[in-house]
Amino acid sequence: MRQKLVAGNWKMNGSRASIKGLLDGIKKGIGDVVDSEVAVCPPACYLGEVESQLSGSPIAWGAQNLSTEASGAFTGEIAASMLNDFNCKYVLVGHSERRSLYGEEDATVAKKFAVARAAGLKPVLCIGETLQEREQGVTNEVVARQISAVVALEGIAALAAGVIAYEPVWAIGTGKTASPAQAQEVHAFIRKLLADQDAAVAEKVQILYGGSMNAANAAELLAQPDIDGGLIGGAALKAEDFLTICRAAG
Ligand code: PEP
Repeated sequence: MRQKLVAGNWKMNGSRASIKGLLDGIKKGIGDVVDSEVAVCPPACYLGEVESQLSGSPIAWGAQNLSTEASGAFTGEIAASMLNDFNCKYVLVGHSERRSLYGEEDATVAKKFAVARAAGLKPVLCIGETLQEREQGVTNEVVARQISAVVALEGIAALAAGVIAYEPVWAIGTGKTASPAQAQEVHAFIRKLLADQDAAVAEKVQILYGGSMNAANAAELLAQPDIDGGLIGGAALKAEDFLTICRAAG
């Protein structure tokens, strides 16, 4: 039985003051959430604050991105070792905003996955099709290609050290959630794709859904057999909404 994971991606939102309030709220309510794992991914500059507020709590934390490089003249970049310095457990790789706004291609994302894994971080590999790709009927090909880039570099067993987040691009930040059936269909396809290569990996890997998941629609999405949690953007910025999603995960 895979444990569910609910992770908040705060994107480029918040301030010292708002983050303190948000974490206070989540910490206060988290007592009810017993079985699922909960994590937050703040902007990197707040990782120190998040670490000091969450140390000793059941909530994990992670980053939204990392460099493919270890150190040196890479202005603006953040190395895996720096994330370890702040005791991050997770790091998102290949979020659709990184892919579309910052030109991250499959090969770069695969390298980030490898660098994160080598550093002992748990990479959350974000994949998903655009609206145009869905309308062209190539959703499965797109997610298979995105996963294959990691498998080609690292081998199938490496996926077991990370998490996959299926996030249809057309559902991210748009309020248009994939229906539970639509999401389950792609999650089942991903699971089968992995199972065809390694049944144990397929059984173990958590596949999260992301894309306008909120307090109202989470329960139905999370009840699907191949949906092992959620990657939550907007709704992770309000403690009560985030906690409702966490409770829906069980
Ligand atoms: C995300 O950014 O990963 C995401 C799922 O955002 P939202 O929940 O706002 O669609």
